[in-house]
Parts: sequence; C-alpha cells; structure tokens
Amino acid sequence: MSDLEAFRSEARAWLEANCPASMRGDSPSATEAENEIVWGGRRATYRNPEAKLWLDRMAARGWTAPTWPREYGGGGLSRDEAKVLTQEIGRIKAQAPLFSFGLWMLGPVLLEYANEEQKKEHLPKIVRGEIRWCQGYSEPGAGSDLASLRTRCEDKGDHYLINGQKVWTSYADQADWIFCLVRTDTAKKHEGISFILFDMASPGVEARPIKLISGNSPFCETFFSDVKVPKANLVGKLNGGWEIAKRLLQYERQNISSGGFGGGAGIELEEIAKHYGGAENGKIADGDLRARIAQHRMEAKAFALTVRRIEEEAKAAKGPSPATSIIKYAAAKLNQERCELMVEAMGHQALGWSGEGFLEGEIAAMRGMLRSKGNSIEGGTSEVNLNVVAKRVLGLLDHQ
Ligand SMILES: Cc1cc2nc3c(=O)[nH]c(=O)nc-3n(C[C@H](O)[C@H](O)[C@H](O)COP(=O)(O)OP(=O)(O)OC[C@H]3O[C@@H](n4cnc5c(N)ncnc54)[C@H](O)[C@@H]3O)c2cc1C
Repeated sequence: MSDLEAFRSEARAWLEANCPASMRGDSPSATEAENEIVWGGRRATYRNPEAKLWLDRMAARGWTAPTWPREYGGGGLSRDEAKVLTQEIGRIKAQAPLFSFGLWMLGPVLLEYANEEQKKEHLPKIVRGEIRWCQGYSEPGAGSDLASLRTRCEDKGDHYLINGQKVWTSYADQADWIFCLVRTDTAKKHEGISFILFDMASPGVEARPIKLISGNSPFCETFFSDVKVPKANLVGKLNGGWEIAKRLLQYERQNISSGGFGGGAGIELEEIAKHYGGAENGKIADGDLRARIAQHRMEAKAFALTVRRIEEEAKAAKGPSPATSIIKYAAAKLNQERCELMVEAMGHQALGWSGEGFLEGEIAAMRGMLRSKGNSIEGGTSEVNLNVVAKRVLGLLDHQ
C-alpha cells in the first residue's frame, strides 16, 4: 500500500469514528445542522453541541487547516494528503467544522509575512476557532481604489494610534480581532500603507451593523477613535502593507472561487422547474427554460474544471496567482445566473418571503438570490477583477 493509500485508510477510519452523525449530510438531522454555520470566536454559541465537538476534534488534529505546519497547530499534511482528506470528508458529506476569515485569508499571509511571535500567537487560535477575525480594507472613498485609504496610523513612540473609518466590514460586530490596512505615510499612496492586527475590544473601536435588503445584517461601518495598538502588531514592514494586502486578496478570491458562492445550494434547479412548470417525458416542459438551465449546467461544469486547473497551477507555483480573478469573476456570474434561474422557475412562488406553503430550501433560495447581488462586488468587483485579468494574466497594456 502506498503512503497516500495508507493515509486515506487512516483518515477514513478517523472520520468515521469522530464525525458526529448530525454533522453528516445524510443524517436525518443534517438539515438542522446545515443551518448552523460555525464561525467560532470568543462569543460563539452552539445550537448543536455536536458542532462544537466536531470543531474541537478536527482542530485537535489540525485538520481545520490541514496544510499549515504542525508547529502552528495545523495538520502538517502535504498537498496530496490534504486532497485525500477533502475527498474523504466529501465521502461522508461532513459539514465544514469551521468558517473563518482567519483560515481563508489571514492565516496564509501570516505564514508568508509574519514574524515567529506573531505566527505562534495567532495561527493556533485560528486553527481552533478561538478568535474570529474581520477584514478592515474598504473605506468610504476607498473600495476598488483601495490604495486611497485614509485611516491614519501614527507612531506614538511606544504604540500606534489609529483614527478613521472602515465600511462593509463583514461581521465586525461579531469579530474578536481585525486585520486592517492603515495609512502610515501620507506622502506616498501605495508605499504609505501598512498591515496591522488589533483587538476589536480595544477602547475606541465601534462597529455599527448595516441592514440589507435580504433582512440580514452581515456587515458594519467600523469607526476607530484614538485606538491604541501595540507596535508588535504590525505585520511585515512599516509602509510595506500593500504587498500583503494584494496577496491576501488573492487568497480571498481563490477561496471564494473554489467553494463557489453556493446560492440556492441544496435544491436542484431541474426539480424546481419541473415542480412549478411541469414536465414532459421526464424533461422540463418549458423548452426555453430547459435550454437555459442546460447551458448553465455546462458552464458550471466548465467552471469546475477551470478551478481545478488553476488550483493545480497554484500548487506548482506554491500559492495563488492573479488567475484567481478569473474564477472570482466567473463564480460570481454563475451564482447570480443560478439564483435568477431558480427564481424564474419558481414563478410567483418566488415572491414569497416567509410563512407556510414553501418547499424545503425555497425561502433560503429566495434570500440567496438577493444575497447573490453582492457576489460581483465583494472581494473586488467584477470590473476590477476583469482589469486584473487583462493586465496580470493576459499581459495587456495598462493605458491608464
Ligand atoms: C457582501 C460584501 C461583503 C464585503 N465584505 C467586506 C469586508 O469584510 N471588508 C472590507 O474591507 N470590504 C468588504 N466589502 C467591500 C468590497 O470590497 C467593496 O464594496 C468593493 O471593493 C467595491 O468597492 P466600492 O463599494 O467602494 O465600489 P466602487 O469602488 O466605488 O465601485 C463602484 C463601481 O465602479 C466600478 N469601478 C471602480 N473602479 C473601476 C475601474 N478601475 N475599472 C472599471 N470599473 C471600475 C466598480 O466595478 C463598481 O461597479 C464587502 C462587500 C460586499 C458586497
């Protein structure tokens, strides 16, 4: 038996023994568990105690961050072993134990740019889901043109003092710490930005939730008034934050893309179309809708193959590349199309918002359609990602 096959058997046996029934897709209580997305953090609460058990067991093996080095709490797996683990997790349809900006975005850049103390301090807490992170990038006046950011960070001798405002800070009101872009030099644009970490419980930090059309409030305006931050919290070089910021965006786009956006996941377009519009000979009765759903499925398949190709390229290059902008763009477009098709197939039923008389997953799909509108904005807008593809992937000239 090869090493990889031995690892597969070991992982399979461990997952069988340790993944609680309610955290598996096929179990009767899976739908219930599906609603419980675990973000961890100091204030985490668990409706399903098995969700916490699952997180703790996976974290103890480092399998919430399978490829991170063991010394920082990760699983220390090779890329191939991690792929096998993902397959085995998929085989038993286990729920993700932890959703985390720390795992998806911050951790990878800390591994590349942080000093040893910072890695030892923050990475294990990310692996265990102890600290929940938010992303302080966008500001009023600095979204696509992120380098225009103005949040000031002044050197006060033994500490930094931060003043300014961020916006669209996802889950800032629930996060424990923030990774934040700040201006440390006003004379230069890109070379005057630094990347800094601080506790959201610091005096002077205020997060005000913004309410959305979907009824949720997933992000905040975040204000900083004379926030004192220890100097040891600066990651990388002073005024060297732009490089880290761009790298983190690549991880963000890679992560968004490889998972897709998943709007309306859990209900099949074809089934919904047949349920509401009828079926003829087992096919969706409306020929036009049938053709567009088929087209969408082909594009989704092509997308999945492109993601695999780009992931393989990223492995060879030891990290993501500007090509993540291709998949971020395509993932947003596909998810929006899927959500629109779903709503179209449901007809007037899609006007529903709450109450009785809906199939399982329909209301979530409707709300997902509204949520999907943000897909072409978050993590860099579609236009901005197309600009990255033009310049960095296709090598077209920048005429600006
Ligand atoms: C769901 C969601 C979650 C988010 N979470 C976070 C978060 O956690 N942290 C955070 O910091 N930010 C977050 N954001 C903010 C997001 O990063 C910004 O909204 C995004 O970068 C766009 O910036 P903006 O809203 O200021 O739009 P603008 O930059 O003002 O853009 C307005 C329009 O102009 C277009 N445009 C701008 N510049 C160009 C150009 N050069 N070429 C072509 N077109 C251009 C854009 O594509 C867009 O259509 C989130 C946004 C969403 C929707």
